[in-house]
Amino acid sequence: MFITPHMFVGVAIGVKVSNPWIVFFLGLFSHYLLDFLPHWDYLTEIKIDKKEHFLKIFLDFIIGTIIVLFLIWDLPNKIIILIAISSTLLPDCLEFIYNNFKVKKLKFLSNFHHKIHYWKYLSFSQGIPAILIVSIAAILIILS
Ligand SMILES: [Zn+2]
Repeated sequence: MFITPHMFVGVAIGVKVSNPWIVFFLGLFSHYLLDFLPHWDYLTEIKIDKKEHFLKIFLDFIIGTIIVLFLIWDLPNKIIILIAISSTLLPDCLEFIYNNFKVKKLKFLSNFHHKIHYWKYLSFSQGIPAILIVSIAAILIILS
């Protein structure tokens, strides 16, 4: 799934839970749960072998960061929220390192990550509803 919905779910976790360890593990679990949902992805692999791939990942991250900053600006628990966002993005960061630098020790995580993506290669129209539902639900939780 995109970076931005993972970030929204991270913020929702960080807003509702205060224990940093629980936040970390919920964030990690949420990543795999979201990846399991039938969704559309703009890349099939987190690999920067083309300028266009870098641009897509960069834009996704920047758009997510700007919206998240707007959402959490007045909230007091920014450290917990940062832990949550970091853990929601950790599997994709490790996947990025594995795909681009071939760190063999991360192969089992990459295999697991790919197996979790049960609903791969959906079209945009088939895969966008899950992304929108997750994003809207997370934003509603953040704002509640
Ligand atoms: Zn992922």
